[in-house]
Amino acid sequence: MIPFVSDRETATPAAVPMSGASITELEIASVVAALSSGCLSIGPHLEEFEGRIARMSGSKHAVGVSSGTAGLHLAVVASGVEPGDLVITTPFSFVASANCVLYERGIPVFVDVDPLTGNIDTDQVAQAVRDLCAGGSAARRWLPPSLRSTGSASSKVRAILPVHAFGQPADLDPIVNLARSHSLAVIEDSCEAVGAVYKHRHAGTIGDVGVYAFYPNKQMTTGEGGMIVTDRDDWASLFRSLRNQGRDHMDSWLRHDRLGYNYRLNELSAALGTAQLSRLGELLAARDRVAGWYFDRLNGIPGLKVPSVVTSTTRMSWFAYVARLEPNIDREKVMRDLAARGIPSRTYFSPIHLQPFFASRFGYSKGDFPVTEALGESSLALPFSATLSEDQVNLVCRALAELLTRGATV
Ligand SMILES: *Cc1c(COP(=O)(O)O)cnc(C)c1O
Repeated sequence: MIPFVSDRETATPAAVPMSGASITELEIASVVAALSSGCLSIGPHLEEFEGRIARMSGSKHAVGVSSGTAGLHLAVVASGVEPGDLVITTPFSFVASANCVLYERGIPVFVDVDPLTGNIDTDQVAQAVRDLCAGGSAARRWLPPSLRSTGSASSKVRAILPVHAFGQPADLDPIVNLARSHSLAVIEDSCEAVGAVYKHRHAGTIGDVGVYAFYPNKQMTTGEGGMIVTDRDDWASLFRSLRNQGRDHMDSWLRHDRLGYNYRLNELSAALGTAQLSRLGELLAARDRVAGWYFDRLNGIPGLKVPSVVTSTTRMSWFAYVARLEPNIDREKVMRDLAARGIPSRTYFSPIHLQPFFASRFGYSKGDFPVTEALGESSLALPFSATLSEDQVNLVCRALAELLTRGATV
């Protein structure tokens, strides 16, 4: 499933687009230059893009990959996840943050989230680590239901994988401390958080490895693409090899030193990324402005809560603007009435443990992660991008105010 793409599903032509990239002459010229250069893969644009992401984020290495999902997969490989190993993560996310564990036959251990931010609950992470290391029945209760009786309670916890939901950094300090004391890797899913800053450090650079994503609805885009950032020299070399069919040396094209993948980022995408990155400040400022308009106009509308930004967030990198509706509001009706006025909206996130594939494979059911489920059931993601105008935001907010004051209660 694609995270809120355009508006193909809405019946009425959209008055306001759900999301969308901001592409200028700069991006077009940059891609055309790459196209004309004759070098379409493994060339100077990728190197340039990687160097700039490393400088922007303050990480030692940056390795371009074909998607955020590919980057997360390689981060899981580097963390040493083997079949049956456990990775502690959140069910309130896009499905890729848990799928990347399954690619290595690892087991995602879900921990519920903080109701304010939707980010992983660090007290529960601490409890999970303690219990899983102790083993026995205390450990089993954290495992997916279908594995509780067969007891892979002797499995090893390898990593903690927090997600920075909607561009707000998870509370990383306690997670990193915990990981250090138990020799676990920290993989930051920063796919929604390029440019976000946690306590004066860039999200993605605080754990052992972080991954940014550049799908068209993200803060900056390469069409498809992602970037892994890490300070570890050994992991950076490993990522370069793994993304390139397991080659250690570029001069011996037909020598494959390990099981690798084709996860390369092509030159056209890298050229687009370099141009977008040079505008990241402007793009994030535009998103800040749009979020500000929403806060302004939505505050005080009955039945609706605006998003929270917590004090550990030095800089929010707005990925999506996700409001919440009180439980007495009929969300489906609100969404239908908005759509009838040409205004798309999304329910965001739809919990991972309740996705058909996860529920059937691991035996999850409703009630397993109550905070995640409550957030999922009440969420209303509104149209959001750097290109949204104040008039468009006014249109959305006036429609919402009208629908909710008129009373869309169940
Ligand atoms: C977008 C996203 C991804 C995946 O990125 P792709 O580039 O689409 O593969 C992973 N995790 C989260 C939380 C995301 O929002």
